[in-house]
Order: sequence, then C-alpha cells, then structure tokens
Amino acid sequence: MTVVNCPTCEKKVVWNTESVHRPFCSERCKLIDLGEWASENHTIEGAESRDALQFDEFDIALNDEFFTPE
Ligand SMILES: [Zn+2]
Repeated sequence: MTVVNCPTCEKKVVWNTESVHRPFCSERCKLIDLGEWASENHTIEGAESRDALQFDEFDIALNDEFFTPE
C-alpha cells in the first residue's frame, strides 16, 4: 500500500483509486494548493526543489561565463 502526505496539510493519503484528490487528502487541500500556485506563494518541496536548485546553479554558471574577461 502506498501512502503519501497531503502537500497542503501533510495528512497521510492512501494512494488508491478511492483517493480521488490524491496526492491531496481532500478537494479543499487541492484548491488551497492551486490557490497558492496562483498567488506565487507556493513552496516547492522534494524533487522539484532539487530541480529548481540545479536550474539556479545553471543560471549562475551562465552568468560566470558571461562575466569572464577575455
Ligand atoms: Zn490535506
């Protein structure tokens, strides 16, 4: 059995066909999460934050290259 934590309230959600709002525990949490995305206050967690970090590093690398004296 797969159990995930609701991204909004971190309540445990069983990952099966009965959990129609998965990974959220309820429609309420799903809507809250979508609302946070819309207002750009969403905190990216887990794998997505690692991707964002890699993107930042890539961006910095590009800037270093740009500012390297010839
Ligand atoms: Zn929830």
